[in-house]
Amino acid sequence: MYDVIVVGGGPSGVFTAQMLANQGFHALVLEEHKEIGEPVQCAGLISPRTLNLAGVSENIIINQLTGARVLSPLGGMLDIRTGQVHALAVDRAAFDRQLAIQAQNAGADVLTGAKVKGLKKNAGGFQVFVQTDSKEISCQARLIIGADGANSRVAKWLGLNCTGPRAIMYAADVELSRPEENDLVDIFVGRNMAPGWFGWLIPLNKNMCRVGTGFAFSRPGHSPRYFFQHIIESFPEYFKGFKILKYTGGTVPMGLMPKIYAPNAMLVGDAAWQTKPVSGGGIYPGMRGAQLCAQVAAQALKEDNLSEKTLSRYQLLWNEEFSQEIRCGLSHRESYLNFSDRDIDLLLRFLNKPYWQNIISKYGDIDYPSILARPLFNAGPWTRGFVKAAVYVAEHGSALKKGIKSVFSW
Ligand SMILES: Cc1cc2nc3c(=O)[nH]c(=O)nc-3n(C[C@H](O)[C@H](O)[C@H](O)COP(=O)(O)OP(=O)(O)OC[C@H]3O[C@@H](n4cnc5c(N)ncnc54)[C@H](O)[C@@H]3O)c2cc1C
Repeated sequence: MYDVIVVGGGPSGVFTAQMLANQGFHALVLEEHKEIGEPVQCAGLISPRTLNLAGVSENIIINQLTGARVLSPLGGMLDIRTGQVHALAVDRAAFDRQLAIQAQNAGADVLTGAKVKGLKKNAGGFQVFVQTDSKEISCQARLIIGADGANSRVAKWLGLNCTGPRAIMYAADVELSRPEENDLVDIFVGRNMAPGWFGWLIPLNKNMCRVGTGFAFSRPGHSPRYFFQHIIESFPEYFKGFKILKYTGGTVPMGLMPKIYAPNAMLVGDAAWQTKPVSGGGIYPGMRGAQLCAQVAAQALKEDNLSEKTLSRYQLLWNEEFSQEIRCGLSHRESYLNFSDRDIDLLLRFLNKPYWQNIISKYGDIDYPSILARPLFNAGPWTRGFVKAAVYVAEHGSALKKGIKSVFSW
């Protein structure tokens, strides 16, 4: 009999368990894989803020990134060098492992090789059916927390609406000689290479990188591997002599999930769509989600009131902090989706000037991308032209010619 059972031993789940165990609640984390953190399905790019929030040690940092280049297949480029560390490439498996150890140190039980097969609601909360290596067991908890990732079965079992837009990613750790500019992330944009998404190259050291791509629209006959290969072939100068060491991939949900709680139940992390719609990054929002989830759960457990109404406060807190950020990200994405490769190329060339580069390096924040939108769009008539054109395009679905014309005639 537990106060809380967390399904899923990813960062959002174990962080939630850690905070609840810290407050004296009897918490159990159930993780289907034998080892926490494996297999890795992530590019492992986080902000320094995320590392501080997680409280894990700095020895998981593999590289520090101070800038980015956004590259179009037509040759345009936006080159941002800030001189400050904005992002960290980390050992994601070690990140998850350290969080799990912190949860155990706080008093939570973490059971690996334990796949949750089903839930049954009862008067005391939920009975949880688990398949371990050797046998089937069942446990009881007053509260169940679904932290079981993008394809959450807990959300389905609870009858919560979990169909929404998602990006499908395909990525690899590669051997790639990159003797210089190892503090820059490369971002590849283009409708044919990454439809509705983008590709990335994150240097880890002089000989190793993480490369990946994603797409939000599937194209009949085109596998994720096809888009990956397309990026490599479109930018041969960036991938000379590269060798794939290990593939990975996965899905990232986007948007505001309509409901992330039910009687005696809550969702957190990817299971609750707690991700950034512009980049797909989910570690930071998932950990903030975990804090809000634990805050509401602790109060409800203390009062022994796990009703839907009490737990709905979690959704209020989440929406208060992130709904604007997510809506803003979705609307920027919507505009981006309507840009042709030519539009994107022109926009990158246009922004690749010291004036705009300074604004982007001053306000750019990988956890809160919307912070940059306001100063960028308010910076002058040029961007206003683009924004107007983007809105026009979003409404009328045609090319950006109008806005581009106004920009270059200004
Ligand atoms: C290719 C790729 C690259 C990415 N790169 C980044 C990045 O650079 N930065 C970033 O911030 N985000 C990135 N993300 C997103 C990030 O990985 C997720 O947002 C993050 O892992 C979410 O954490 P979570 O704890 O919510 O879920 P997960 O990390 O997915 O953890 C869910 C856990 O639940 C377990 N589980 C599932 N079902 C059951 C069950 N029935 N019983 C028991 N256990 C179960 C799974 O095994 C898993 O361990 C990337 C995603 C992908 C696919």
